[in-house]
Amino acid sequence: MAIRTIREIGDEVLTKTCKEVTKMTLRTKVLIEDMLETMYQANGVGLAAPQVGILKRIVVIDVGDGPIVMVNPEILETDGEQTGEEGCLSVPGKSGVVTRPNYVKARALDEEMEEFEIEGEELLARAICHELEHLDGHLYVEKVEGELHDVDDREEE
Ligand code: ZN
Repeated sequence: MAIRTIREIGDEVLTKTCKEVTKMTLRTKVLIEDMLETMYQANGVGLAAPQVGILKRIVVIDVGDGPIVMVNPEILETDGEQTGEEGCLSVPGKSGVVTRPNYVKARALDEEMEEFEIEGEELLARAICHELEHLDGHLYVEKVEGELHDVDDREEE
């Protein structure tokens, strides 16, 4: 396993649409392990493959309940609304207020390419929405209400 370099806002790779994963290879498994390690080392709660420069539809999330690996994820349902601070490892030192659904149901494949569904509320719902947008080349800064501001001691997502 290895820590990968996190790409930052302004890097073109963060604006691209990622490709579906068609089969699980050793290389992709290593990528997933590296993404988890990179996310934990950066104290993030989520990381998408384009953030480490790989244009594949893969995200990893851990909101404190253990790692979630989502390959080719899709949102099936959303409900409600939450408005709160959001940050991104690709936009270091900044955060901003974003409104997201308060509930999300999603479908994805795991590292074995087995399909699963996941439901999340609050931070998990926010993280799923945030990470999936990276796969289509979008950053949360496009959705910030008001101004981006400097993070004091707040946790980054
Ligand atoms: Zn992000």
